[in-house]
Amino acid sequence: MKIDVLDFLKKKSAHKTIDLDVELKGFDYDYEYIKIIKPIQFRGQLNMLGDLFKLQGNITGTIELTCSRCLVKYPHELNIEVDEKFSNDKEALDEDDDVIFIDSDTLDITEIVLSNIILSLPIKRLCKEACKGLCPMCGTDLNNSSCSCMTEEVDPRLAKLKDFFD
Ligand SMILES: [Zn+2]
Ligand SMILES: [Zn+2]
Repeated sequence: MKIDVLDFLKKKSAHKTIDLDVELKGFDYDYEYIKIIKPIQFRGQLNMLGDLFKLQGNITGTIELTCSRCLVKYPHELNIEVDEKFSNDKEALDEDDDVIFIDSDTLDITEIVLSNIILSLPIKRLCKEACKGLCPMCGTDLNNSSCSCMTEEVDPRLAKLKDFFD
């Protein structure tokens, strides 16, 4: 969804309600295809404050992430607050560091929504806080079953001691 800013400027009303359903099945991020499993929506408004466009609202939806410990896909619910300022006037940028420059007459809301989602992605992606992950030796998913590798694992410092006594 693109909003024509010129058109917006011409209108007397300096306020526009935005109700957007992002028609996307997924997006690429960090060598991974992230699937959207519950449609992403943006509800908010665009306001004009002098030379600035202010976009405020909320992103909701559910995406699918991969657990970094057990590699299982799990749903990640989105609830992101958006509060961004844009301007096509370079002078306004000098006055405020947070302002994003737009060099066209349109504001691509879909792109803004996607970049906000990417920024909000958790660094530590876990299917659950206590995920046990995969056994580093045999690859068994330790959430569902156990293997005999872990019981044989010895603290490397103790292993050295053991060698010493041998
Ligand atoms: Zn996991
Ligand atoms: Zn194992």
